[in-house]
Amino acid sequence: MPYIYIQPIKTDHFPWIEELEKSVYTVFGYHTKVANLDIDLEHAFDPARHQYHSSRILLQIITRPPADAVKVLGVVNVDLFIPVLTFVFGEAQLRGIGSVIALHRLNNKFYGLPEDRGLLTERLVKEAIHELGHNFGLIHCNNQSCVMKSSTYVEEVDQKSGEMCSRCQELLRGLL
Ligand SMILES: [Zn+2]
Ligand SMILES: [Zn+2]
Repeated sequence: MPYIYIQPIKTDHFPWIEELEKSVYTVFGYHTKVANLDIDLEHAFDPARHQYHSSRILLQIITRPPADAVKVLGVVNVDLFIPVLTFVFGEAQLRGIGSVIALHRLNNKFYGLPEDRGLLTERLVKEAIHELGHNFGLIHCNNQSCVMKSSTYVEEVDQKSGEMCSRCQELLRGLL
């Protein structure tokens, strides 16, 4: 049985990992492993924008995945962008092996609010499930509380639940 790999990239400590592993198993039925791929973040840095190009990180993640990986999810703590958008919380290949999410804008600290580790974990888990959902072939959902609803702002991440609506769950069952 293959694994969903979680790859923390330049994030010094990860108290969120257990919650993330639990949710990934509940939703997708795969156990997880923590990866240690050789990812060069600086290669993705854009000096003009002072942000990191998420597609360049994703490209490194998907180049040499572990042999027993069904998916690889990178977790960074930097500000990600793609050229057409000011920023992104994450990026995934639709029906592909790789995705990347960023803690940076999910952290209350970014908004000048007191740090809230529980809330950060909750947001991270939602965005991780969302991007992995894309990896398994799900597209965006219009259901307000579904985790596959697209979120542009952190408030929208907070508004949706960490779970898939019954329709997305059914679609996922067909895709797994
Ligand atoms: Zn999405
Ligand atoms: Zn849905």
